[in-house]
Amino acid sequence: MGEKIFEERELILELFPGTSPELLPPGEVLYYRDKEGRVHIEESPLHLVLEPLERSASSTPIICEACLRHVSRTAAQFFRFGVAENERHFRYVALCRDTESCSGAARPGRLREILLRGILP
Ligand SMILES: [Zn+2]
Repeated sequence: MGEKIFEERELILELFPGTSPELLPPGEVLYYRDKEGRVHIEESPLHLVLEPLERSASSTPIICEACLRHVSRTAAQFFRFGVAENERHFRYVALCRDTESCSGAARPGRLREILLRGILP
């Protein structure tokens, strides 16, 4: 499946490079953590980098915004990201600390929503 849609996305970007990311057909969404602990969400040509925040003292369980599972506070981590390249406007998101397990359970549409929150003002 999928492949045909990815081609359509590439074609639209080629013909209309200024197309709003909201209007593009879905592409392949990558979701991973790098060696510095930052989380990346990518859907070509968009790329969102989420900075990890310090662990909070509270122990209330929270819902991971990517996989929508309830996770304990120690299994989750808060991240922040700049909105539309504005250094002063941040949004926050709670995600599983274990990005690999989360990425297996997260729906691409959900990751895409988080990605667009960082791209669109
Ligand atoms: Zn998760």
